[in-house]
Amino acid sequence: MAEPGWVLPYKIGQGYDLHRLVPGQKLMIGGIQVESPVGCEAHSDGDVVLHALIDALLGACALGDIGDHFPPSDDQYKGMDSSAFLAKVLPLVTASGYRPGNVDVTIFLEKPKLGPYKLPMRETLAQLLNLPLQCVSVKAKTAEKFPPIGTQEAIAASVTVLLYLST
Ligand code: MG
Repeated sequence: MAEPGWVLPYKIGQGYDLHRLVPGQKLMIGGIQVESPVGCEAHSDGDVVLHALIDALLGACALGDIGDHFPPSDDQYKGMDSSAFLAKVLPLVTASGYRPGNVDVTIFLEKPKLGPYKLPMRETLAQLLNLPLQCVSVKAKTAEKFPPIGTQEAIAASVTVLLYLST
């Protein structure tokens, strides 16, 4: 173990999430509602980007994972807006002495095409994280028709975040 008092100027975190897609549910991605005949089957609003972002933030601070902080078994989180989870996690990041520096998001979804939604997602994430737009990246990929993402049975997201020491 490193000596006590040893403090990193930067910390990196990564998060991943996947949800099943089912008819008749709304599809929330990166805080934006996307027009789609299918949406996420989830305990909360099923926003894979915000869930992966929360795991990345918690991971960078070694503070556990989203399930530790918001157990799916707890009914108070049912149908909850995932930005409310993020609002509870950001103070933990600040309390650990760090602030988000930049974030890079990849979304894995076959349909619909997310091109028109990427800028609104970046703007929403930038606002939620209090970051300039150029520090928030959103990329989208399909899965070449391979299951489960390519067969439109699932959506996934991967997020990398860099934190910087702010104290
Ligand atoms: Mg999730």
